[in-house]
Amino acid sequence: MEDDMKKENKVIRVCGIERESIVDGPGFRYVLFVQGCPHRCPGCHNPESHDPAGGADMTTEEVFADIMKNPHLQGVTFSGGEPFEQVPALLELGKMIRNAGLSLMSYSGYTLEELQKRNDPETDELLSMLDILVDGRYVEALRNLTLIYRGSENQRVIDMNKTRAEGRIVEYQSDFDIEIVI
Ligand code: SF4
Repeated sequence: MEDDMKKENKVIRVCGIERESIVDGPGFRYVLFVQGCPHRCPGCHNPESHDPAGGADMTTEEVFADIMKNPHLQGVTFSGGEPFEQVPALLELGKMIRNAGLSLMSYSGYTLEELQKRNDPETDELLSMLDILVDGRYVEALRNLTLIYRGSENQRVIDMNKTRAEGRIVEYQSDFDIEIVI
């Protein structure tokens, strides 16, 4: 029984994988699109990811081995779908990723405050490992194609390291943003 539970926690329902991306976070990243999303935002860019019964199962070890095939990666991004509907398995994978020295970023349709209100130790631990969280549902009326790493203006690209250090939400400033300002 215990073995079954452990095994269950190690399975991720996967919608798709982008092995080399420069648009889903800073640097050269591996993007894991998880399957299943309860938010159903009108205009969602990835509606095939909504059904939790769609996609295919992969173990955390299988995904991690796939990530490790590419020595040029700077980080991994969890996207979706809703990553925070699969916290136990992504927490396990996140630990492997951080131990390998890669940065970790995640999207979520939930806001950071909604995730913190869960009072769930595993959710908190996954949040504690993130460098960047892009939070909030996609809102079609607030769509803005000039935004970096997000689709609508209500969403935030949160610098989680600075947010933890300063005890307030600090939004991420990329080199690209700085170039625009100059
Ligand atoms: S949270 Fe993301 S994946 Fe889920 S419905 Fe909204 S835009 Fe689509």
